[in-house]
Amino acid sequence: MRNTDKILLAGASGLVGSALKRRLDDDGLVNILCPSHAELDMSDNRAVADYFDVHKPVYVFLAAAKVGGILANNTYPADYIYENLMIQNAVIHQSYVHKVKKLLFLGSSCIYPKHCPQPMKEEDLLSGTLEPTNEPYAIAKISGIELCWAYNRQYGTRFIPVMPPNLFGPNDNFDLETSHVLPALLRKFHEARSANRKTVTVWGTGEPRREFLYVDDLADACLFLMNLEDTAVPYMDRPLFNIGTGEDISIRGLAEMIKDITGYQGEIVYDRTKPDGTPQKILNISKISNLGWRAGIPLQQGIRQTYKWFLKHKDYI
Ligand code: GDP
Repeated sequence: MRNTDKILLAGASGLVGSALKRRLDDDGLVNILCPSHAELDMSDNRAVADYFDVHKPVYVFLAAAKVGGILANNTYPADYIYENLMIQNAVIHQSYVHKVKKLLFLGSSCIYPKHCPQPMKEEDLLSGTLEPTNEPYAIAKISGIELCWAYNRQYGTRFIPVMPPNLFGPNDNFDLETSHVLPALLRKFHEARSANRKTVTVWGTGEPRREFLYVDDLADACLFLMNLEDTAVPYMDRPLFNIGTGEDISIRGLAEMIKDITGYQGEIVYDRTKPDGTPQKILNISKISNLGWRAGIPLQQGIRQTYKWFLKHKDYI
């Protein structure tokens, strides 16, 4: 990408989109399109077509999606499949129609089977049944991957799907009903400390293991992939890249770490009426590692930075 190339950041206000924006700004890219939801409804194919007609983006980062934690996915399954299918159909199709040079599609590690051998390799896609709590979301994302592959094969496009693990960082969703575990625990421990509460409730058994990636590392990997030579990506042969740290931690371990970072002194209790979800999710990252990329921000450091952001913004989010 050259500094003046027109880049569409679909989902620029979200966790991933805002990290990409920070990074593109830092790198001196000056022609970034960041339409707000009011400006452009990404799930409206006609509106997306008109937007592409007018603005003619050359590169697209597709980070617009309906995302949420285990409870939200389980409670609103229709919204998670419908909205994601509509967004990716519109943006991927219009990127083909308007001859976008490259598109990067953000997926999620929940596309892999519930009982996938760990760490999960790109080739494990569709090798088993999915985790029921987020199956509708996962099937939408798998369709997005297949869309990228099908357009690459049939029309010679350069669309790259990437699969991150559980992401976190500035601009995350801290709503306790709909958020993922890391921002939820940051908020719970912070509020319990402020209100001098004796206990903090963590959902499930604490046994599941998850991999967490600080979102600025994800942005770094996305740019790395976008800037790869064409010969380094097998566009005709189902390109897919896991992006992660290669390390996981139990929810119990994460809770202890966040307790420590927030300075909370009370007890942790586990609510076993809430679902655990997949027992373990850790990505095999050898493909992107072999190309020369690795994550740079350790988990503790990322959590500290996110906590700092939360403290600054908590009254407005
Ligand atoms: P998942 O990775 O798709 O399962 O999504 P989450 O990030 O929502 O949940 C990861 C794990 O953390 C699950 O086992 C949850 O039950 C557990 N967990 C513990 N406390 C919380 C909480 O307060 N919020 C959320 N979302 N998950 C929690």
